[in-house]
Amino acid sequence: MRSATSSIPSNSTLGSGEIPGRGPRSQAPRVNLRSLTLAEIDEWVQRRGFKPYRASQLAGWLYNRPPLPLVQMHNLPADFRSALAEDFDCSLPLLRGRSDSRDGTVKMLVELGDARVVESVVIPREERLTLCISSQVGCALDCAFCATGRLGLARNLEPFEIIAQVMIGREAARPQPLSNYVFMGMGEPLANYDRLMRALEIMTARWGLGISPRRITVSTAGLVPQLERLAKESSVNIAVSLSAARDELRDRLLPINKRYPLSELIAACRRLELPRRKRVSFEYTMLDGVNDAQRDVHELVELFKGLRVKLNLIPFNSFEGCGFRCSPPDRVEAFQQRLLAAGIHTTVRKSRGRDIAAACGQLAARQRGGADTDTGGLPAASERGATAASGQFATREDGAALAGPRADPRESGGGD
Ligand code: SF4
Repeated sequence: MRSATSSIPSNSTLGSGEIPGRGPRSQAPRVNLRSLTLAEIDEWVQRRGFKPYRASQLAGWLYNRPPLPLVQMHNLPADFRSALAEDFDCSLPLLRGRSDSRDGTVKMLVELGDARVVESVVIPREERLTLCISSQVGCALDCAFCATGRLGLARNLEPFEIIAQVMIGREAARPQPLSNYVFMGMGEPLANYDRLMRALEIMTARWGLGISPRRITVSTAGLVPQLERLAKESSVNIAVSLSAARDELRDRLLPINKRYPLSELIAACRRLELPRRKRVSFEYTMLDGVNDAQRDVHELVELFKGLRVKLNLIPFNSFEGCGFRCSPPDRVEAFQQRLLAAGIHTTVRKSRGRDIAAACGQLAARQRGGADTDTGGLPAASERGATAASGQFATREDGAALAGPRADPRESGGGD
């Protein structure tokens, strides 16, 4: 994976232009420690005159152990910890609540430093335990069948806010390890490209979370230039949310299609340099009477001519006021069989978490609309407190609990 070191995203935290300790102090918010690459930590360590090995020692504490306050990183000298606390924000988002489905799916609401919330979901599927990660607060792409799209875009997630979801997801999945990571939560990951790349670097680096890129999938609604860039700059898997095989319908379901129509999208997919035996992945949300007819099968077959594809049919997880229903199971099966007969590798995703409002964006929408009176299937506040008190999910970082009643993480900042 290409290092993000040379392209620090220009945003409120990283785009003040300066890594702390370099030049005069600004009033801009401090960079979060977990948004930095090892090379950047190393640069800071050297500039501040600490021993070079402190950078990798710190990375070990940040990523290879449960989160701890700086004060408990016992083999780091006090002046080093103080300098870190002075120059960096060391807080992490926290788990505001979790909802457990009867089928083993765990949906988590993650509260960010500005009190906004995003969702992450742990999904058990056959031998796998997959974490679905959000990349933005809301989404600007406004896909017709998506609860997140209704929220609009509030802001992009910072790299550390993506990393925190992985850490929280790992805690929630215990004692089992997570096996796969998919960017299919709230937001269009490729619309937050630079921060996504930085998060991917931290996720996949040996000094970071050590996840194989083969276990990570980034899903896009079809931002063609970024899709091509991602394929060149990383070795993670890419999935394209398709859901229609003709422009007239796709324009309505995924408005991004007006900007990057199917001809451009498919041409870009044809240009992807995939390893032998690897296929381009597409997702197709099955909508009753909208995109599940024989005509759609024909159009898909035409569209995919000459392309090695894997098509995943996704039964639609309906939500109130969406105006769509899921295709009946027998139609989904017939759709799959016709595609298989036409030589298209087609699978059907088993629906998960229906009893906990698992459609992407539903919980966050409820949380925003109904505040704390509607917990969206999450435990009530008192129960959440009880869960945290039991210590079940109460991993802590620098005074900001990953779970449990909110302490202001900013107050503790450096934690020491
Ligand atoms: S489906 Fe994805 S890209 Fe479309 S609105 Fe929802 S989150 Fe955004």
